[in-house]
Amino acid sequence: MKYEAVIGLEIHVQLNSATKMFCDCPNRPGDEPNRNTCPICLWFPGALPQLSQEALEKAVLACLALNCRIQPESAFDQKVYYYPDLPKGFQLSQHHKPLARNGWVDILGEDGGNKRLRIHHIHMEEDVAKLVHETEGKTPISLVDFNRAGIPLIEIVSEADMRNPHEAMEYVKTLRGQLRYTGSAECSLEQGTLRVDANISLRPRGTDELNTKVEVKNMNSIRNVGDAIAYEIIRQTECLEKGEPIVLHTRLWDPEKRVTAPMRGKFSGPCLPDPSVAKIVVTDDWLKEMQGRLPEMPAQKAERFLREYGLTPEEASNMSLERDLAEFFEAVLKQDLPSRKVASWIFTHLVPALRDRNQTIRETLLTAERFARLLSMLEKDLINAHAAKEVLLQLLSSGETPEEIVEKGRFRQVSDASELESLIDRILAEHPSDVADFRKGNAKVMGFFMGLAMKASQGKGNPKLLKEILTKRLS
Ligand SMILES: [Zn+2]
Repeated sequence: MKYEAVIGLEIHVQLNSATKMFCDCPNRPGDEPNRNTCPICLWFPGALPQLSQEALEKAVLACLALNCRIQPESAFDQKVYYYPDLPKGFQLSQHHKPLARNGWVDILGEDGGNKRLRIHHIHMEEDVAKLVHETEGKTPISLVDFNRAGIPLIEIVSEADMRNPHEAMEYVKTLRGQLRYTGSAECSLEQGTLRVDANISLRPRGTDELNTKVEVKNMNSIRNVGDAIAYEIIRQTECLEKGEPIVLHTRLWDPEKRVTAPMRGKFSGPCLPDPSVAKIVVTDDWLKEMQGRLPEMPAQKAERFLREYGLTPEEASNMSLERDLAEFFEAVLKQDLPSRKVASWIFTHLVPALRDRNQTIRETLLTAERFARLLSMLEKDLINAHAAKEVLLQLLSSGETPEEIVEKGRFRQVSDASELESLIDRILAEHPSDVADFRKGNAKVMGFFMGLAMKASQGKGNPKLLKEILTKRLS
């Protein structure tokens, strides 16, 4: 690789305050269009915006969670641009005096070591209206939905410290986890409550030049963030090899075709101090109070999991990335189960099942108490691992107890030796040549017989017992 990528991310996060940023309208953009509006967020002339205290507090918590320094004084500007989603012609944003500066996020680099990625600043701004394009009829029309107008956002602007797609993906993942811990934001890329814009440029490896960058938008998953950046690095490398200059512009990621394509830029004008919204002055006492409201953060939690539960550093870090999962893990451990075993069940069976269903733990019917009861049945050898996996899947969407599911689905483990012995005798009688093979020293045949025996018992045979009987019969 002749070139090195220089990547910076600008991330918009929607805060989950009850109301919009400058009025009392509900912060519910998904409601029936234009239901949540008033003269302030319809941007009527003469309406006076008033900053929501809740939105400010949530923004400050988010900044503190990302290790930023809250500025003693910050203020709003009018960011001028002209587009139908912003009929007043300017967006209230903080340009000259942002809320916070100089933060950082530690990520796990590709080499397994820690890498610190710096945050340049975080500012607050209001969201704009949503345009809905209807192209079906005779005359295509565009409609404006103001439910989103005035919803509180923070924009997190990183330094250009990232060098590859992996680092960008880890940055988004870590930052998202930390923000969710504060309870300030949902941070879903899929639902658009976290939006990532990536600035990417290339330079000859070993130099510290800053070259013309290209902005890429519209990545609606962490995977897509990585893929779009990887695509853009290849595209720019090819341009440079051909001797074509890189031009400053914005591109959209197309998740279907898996390419980036140029988009038309919006006109953007100057940024002028806004005279209507009061400036934000932060006192030391208030800042201390806000710091006191931060929960135990992922890094501290990981440290504690390492110490208290004997997890490996990687397990501890993965388990503390998302607050819901970390709290679930600790609630399960209240039932006195071996911590490594609980962690292993969460990582190997629960997390993949959640990913398949595209759900968070809180969106399922599984509670820590029911999960713990399932694992204790496994511990007591009442069911085997195969059955426990089946029961776990059912627990995600059923309100029944694990015991009820086990009884109903006949998942209870067969530990009746005489039942298993006759089953094995039958199998061995049906496969005389394999028995001969084993006796000649082919140990692999044992696995084959175990598979047949598990199948014959419909997955319910006690594996320990089956193996014992098999060994006895074959020797
Ligand atoms: Zn309003």
